Amino acid sequence: MSKTSRITFDIVVSGCVTDCWHCYVYGGPAPLMTMNDYENVIAFVDKFCRIANEQNVEVYPYLDLEPMLHPEIEKIVSLARTINGFSMPVCIPTTGIPISTRNDWEQVLTAYHEAGVEQFEFTLHGPEAIHDKAVSWKGAFRCLNEAVQRAKCSSFEISLNLMVSKPMLQQFRETMYVVEKNEYNHKRAVIPAYAPNEKLRRFEQYRPELADVIPYKDFFQEFCDNKIHDGEYWHNVQESTEEKAYQELLAHESKYESYHLIIDSLPTWYFLAVGPGLDIWYGNGFHRTQKLGQIGKTTPTEVLEKVLRRYPNYSFGGYFPIDHVPSPIEVGKIVADPTGKRIYHEIDEIHVKWLDKYLMESSE
Ligand code: SF4
Repeated sequence: MSKTSRITFDIVVSGCVTDCWHCYVYGGPAPLMTMNDYENVIAFVDKFCRIANEQNVEVYPYLDLEPMLHPEIEKIVSLARTINGFSMPVCIPTTGIPISTRNDWEQVLTAYHEAGVEQFEFTLHGPEAIHDKAVSWKGAFRCLNEAVQRAKCSSFEISLNLMVSKPMLQQFRETMYVVEKNEYNHKRAVIPAYAPNEKLRRFEQYRPELADVIPYKDFFQEFCDNKIHDGEYWHNVQESTEEKAYQELLAHESKYESYHLIIDSLPTWYFLAVGPGLDIWYGNGFHRTQKLGQIGKTTPTEVLEKVLRRYPNYSFGGYFPIDHVPSPIEVGKIVADPTGKRIYHEIDEIHVKWLDKYLMESSE
């Protein structure tokens, strides 16, 4: 068994209405889970949590993606609260589309309040044309702004997650104009993470380069509430390019003799997901790689055993055949762009990108 003892169990009762260009999951649209299936999920996850706890494994059941799209969301939240160890997070990410489009939005927000939610986090990609294009949904920008006002009127705090892309930076002033209008309680600006799938490979064309962000680095450092984590990132943004990762690789070759040496420094966390159809997947949201079973056919004990035999899938060890590929130093020397100026969220993602590129080129 791996040293990790934490699992997030995603319950996906609906997909997302959007499919955002920076996001590693395929959001949807997806079918709704029936209430009958949902009741089976609740019973399964509750049992799974109890069995895992007996083995000192912590489980965090979570309603993932955009559950407010489900017409029965109030009942869904209320039943979820009966699962052993379940608690609603204080802050919930949303596009705002369900809050803006549901006729019963006031009741839904009341149910979220009663479940302990205090904050909604809205991801913004820029002014209207950029935002709607980034999330592939015409009208998303208007919905976001309406949802912000509705959430505020219902006494929620509102947080901004500003996605920094090349198109957004090209319309920086217009973006800040729309940011200021909503008077967010909390703010951060982030560079999207890389993931080894088609959507994130396509996003590379929008990923900012060092020259794009340098004029704004001091601004973003001040803009972010979290001065330690986010502020430091922007202060040192020049350390997050592919070029820097390549220089680090050459300077400390012994650190990069095995992927295990990189992965050992990453959080060890497993993600599982169950959605409509009741298949249980190793992966989260719609970023799923292996089917582990199906509710009704596989027991919670069998699923737990299967999970703990694998590498944690928070990090890329869960998705790549790291025991059967050359070392990071060999991979980097073959596929890295030694002068690459694109900016990444974390340095380990650059190793993910190199390994992804290496595996794709070797399979051609
Ligand atoms: S960012 Fe959120 S809404 Fe967009 S595709 Fe990802 S999970 Fe869905």
